[in-house]
Amino acid sequence: MDMVMETKRLPNVGETLLGETIDYYVGGKGANQAVAAARIDAEVSLVGKIGDDTFGSKVYQHLKNEKIDMTAVTPEQNIFTGVASIFKLKEDNAIVVLPGANMLLNDVDELLSEKINAGDVLLAQLEIPLETVKRGLALTKNKGGVTILNPAPYNEKVLEMLPFVDIITPNETEFEGLLGHEISDIDKFEEEMLNWAKQNQAQLIVTRGAFGISYTTENEVITIPAKKVNVVDTTGAGDTFNGILAVCMTQGIDIAKAIELAGNGATLSVTKLGAQTGMPTMAEIEAF
Ligand code: ADP
Repeated sequence: MDMVMETKRLPNVGETLLGETIDYYVGGKGANQAVAAARIDAEVSLVGKIGDDTFGSKVYQHLKNEKIDMTAVTPEQNIFTGVASIFKLKEDNAIVVLPGANMLLNDVDELLSEKINAGDVLLAQLEIPLETVKRGLALTKNKGGVTILNPAPYNEKVLEMLPFVDIITPNETEFEGLLGHEISDIDKFEEEMLNWAKQNQAQLIVTRGAFGISYTTENEVITIPAKKVNVVDTTGAGDTFNGILAVCMTQGIDIAKAIELAGNGATLSVTKLGAQTGMPTMAEIEAF
């Protein structure tokens, strides 16, 4: 649950400040990506945990209403549901995330064995225990599924997961994490991508905000510029991209076309307030 508090400035330590408004949005990378996929009518199962606070049941019901199969989202006692406190300032924000019950997600083997069949896609992020992500990716590969890893928030343990990853989708900052160094010369970005791709098996796709998306082929990097739109809120843009991309991968759509569709979907999503509000239907993406 994202709690978005609008305030003119951050309070100083020891200070109590009167804020402006508060809004509650169901969020989290996994939930957002699941909603993006369900919006384009895919059959989606979410794997995660909720706590025994009031947010738990609200989040659960919200995602069920989005037509997501929630049978692999299980409750835990004596712990809170994952929450983000977002202080929204005029042009920036400051965020504290507490994963709560999701950090107790350790027992996925049985759940995933039931859910994943050959040809299915597992889309994972890093807001659950990293060992669980790794096991889930390995299990999916064993069952003949396709794996997509959105390495966010970035953690260097991702490198250990790479043997089980078909497609990896960092944003620019996360790609620098994968590289192990910053890219000071932006003109070298594509060269760095190609070098990384030559040393690693996974298909590399880097989302680059308003700039667009770059991805590697056998011996070049292709960049699809993002369409220009009236930007209202970029929260969840990357999540929208990942959710749509995952669905395309279950439908045998070729990777170039899939990236274009997912990129256009992500761009559409930034034209509305809230991460999930702007997530488009397939008809909206095609019209765009
Ligand atoms: P993240 O939200 O993970 O940081 P990005 O900011 O890279 O991801 O956004 C993901 C995708 O969303 C981009 O590659 C692009 O297709 C689209 N997008 C994001 N911001 C904009 C923008 N300002 N204008 C147009 N498209 C955007």
